[in-house]
Amino acid sequence: MSLPTRNNPYSFEEFLEKRRTFNYYLDDPFFQKVVRHFAGDQWEEIHEELVKISEKVSYRWRDFAETIAWPEKRPYMMHYDGHNNRIDRIVRPRETEIMEEEIFSEGLFSEKTSPWLRLAKMYLMYQNGEACIACPLTCTEGLVALLDKYADTPETLHILKHCKEGINGDFAIGAQYLSEIQGGSDVPANVLEAVQEGDTWKLYGTKFFCSATHADYAVVTAKPSGSEKVALFVVPSWLPGNKEKEIRNGYTIDRIKWKMGTSELTTGELTFNGAVAYPVGPLDRGVANVVGIVLTYSRLTVGLSAAAFMARSVREARLYAQFRDAFGLRIDLFPMLAGQINRLEHASKRTIAAAFKLYDEFLTLPGGLKGGLVTDETEEMKKKRFDVRELIMLQKIAASWDCTDIIRAAMSVFGGHGVMEDFSSLPRIFRDSAINELWEGPRNVLLTQMHRDFQRVSNWYTPSVFVRNILTGTDEDKIVSLGSEMDEIIAHPSLFTMDEKTMDVCARWDDFCHRLFHAYQDVALCEVEQG
Ligand SMILES: Cc1cc2nc3c(=O)[nH]c(=O)nc-3n(C[C@H](O)[C@H](O)[C@H](O)COP(=O)(O)OP(=O)(O)OC[C@H]3O[C@@H](n4cnc5c(N)ncnc54)[C@H](O)[C@@H]3O)c2cc1C
Repeated sequence: MSLPTRNNPYSFEEFLEKRRTFNYYLDDPFFQKVVRHFAGDQWEEIHEELVKISEKVSYRWRDFAETIAWPEKRPYMMHYDGHNNRIDRIVRPRETEIMEEEIFSEGLFSEKTSPWLRLAKMYLMYQNGEACIACPLTCTEGLVALLDKYADTPETLHILKHCKEGINGDFAIGAQYLSEIQGGSDVPANVLEAVQEGDTWKLYGTKFFCSATHADYAVVTAKPSGSEKVALFVVPSWLPGNKEKEIRNGYTIDRIKWKMGTSELTTGELTFNGAVAYPVGPLDRGVANVVGIVLTYSRLTVGLSAAAFMARSVREARLYAQFRDAFGLRIDLFPMLAGQINRLEHASKRTIAAAFKLYDEFLTLPGGLKGGLVTDETEEMKKKRFDVRELIMLQKIAASWDCTDIIRAAMSVFGGHGVMEDFSSLPRIFRDSAINELWEGPRNVLLTQMHRDFQRVSNWYTPSVFVRNILTGTDEDKIVSLGSEMDEIIAHPSLFTMDEKTMDVCARWDDFCHRLFHAYQDVALCEVEQG
């Protein structure tokens, strides 16, 4: 009961203090367990590094991420300087630039950084949302993987060094421009033209979704004149010596998009008019390489960032529930709400565990990534490679989809405060999460791709054997029932026939893939919890 008073003493301070002082690594025993489980004998070294970086990411970079999210801090374009020179400068807040420099100087893609350390650091950083960091990091990772495989000219080797080890302390940032105005899913339908002029390749045409527009280099898909096949190029944003003069490499940034999330990061619309481009890999293997190498990293990152977004949101919801009262009771003592938070925490934990388990499977693939399906290896290896390829797509669709649901539910724990942009970071992270669902291959496209993949391999790999292989450790009944359900769905000849039956199969496939990946996540969580 309460009596009236004109001096309401209510304060959120107790909750705010807990949230303010929370250390993303040291105060998260579950995440420490995940790292210990997967990093194996590298654990000790990684642990020390994570303790150090957590001090920055949990406080300094967290606060930068909050500050740059204010609408008045949004990046904007300055197309011309005061002397009528076209510069297409992206003006970003100073805090973004400082944070970016500090993060990229960590040398995440250096030979000196182990993959596990990189992954764990990225997971901690992604808890701060996009913050103009998440997308550029993963794009740089994809660019490095591509160049590690194909760089063989002075220019591409220089770019690789710039991204991996830095040059005079400056670490380069990568981007990837595939999507065009007529469609982003259908990369083979790209029309951006690549023309060989003497020894130099130049690009002409437009790209319609170009995130991390401030990057130093971009992986760009384009078709060589007269060819129907897409090739891959790396395009520097400025040719050597021109960055300081702000003379872009033969392209203009026509406009930056006004978008719902990831707003601290620009997504531009570009026109290329003779941009110098360096081909990477065989000119007729562009789609296979961009999907098999570059998008693989981005899709893994979507899974990892979904896990990080969830962890932050669920944690803050729990802290709030441990503080807030309603009807004379602390709200986490209402069974309705306590059960909801437990379910959110379970979803968050299994997403983290699976992101690490899948990365482990990916890292231990002999020969690393290969573009497209490889035929000259043992059946066992072909199956393993196929498992990882499909799991990456399954994770992309399931984790990104769950993420928005989980954050929305976490927001509801805060009641009306859940939607207040200046009460917590959850609304911002929710908006970022909705973007994660769309880029790097929308759900329908990946569902269709997977259905086709399973049909393509059905003479040497049946769906039920696939289910058994990826769910090793789960109970037999589940393996058998998911396996037979999948055999039946894949037996449907095509998802492109326009009839009721196919629409029904599509809906079942959509629902099935989600449940299948949850089963994989549960196996991963069990593995971590059993140590
Ligand atoms: C904020 C943001 C930033 C982005 N940044 C970049 C970037 O930096 N670089 C870049 O290259 N791209 C970027 N993208 C583009 C993104 O990758 C595309 O939006 C995405 O690939 C989808 O392309 P689209 O928007 O043209 O949709 P469409 O390809 O037109 O698809 C529309 C709908 O049709 C469905 N569909 C398409 N094909 C099939 C099929 N075979 N079966 C069933 N359904 C299908 C899709 O699932 C979708 O629901 C960005 C997007 C966003 C939102």
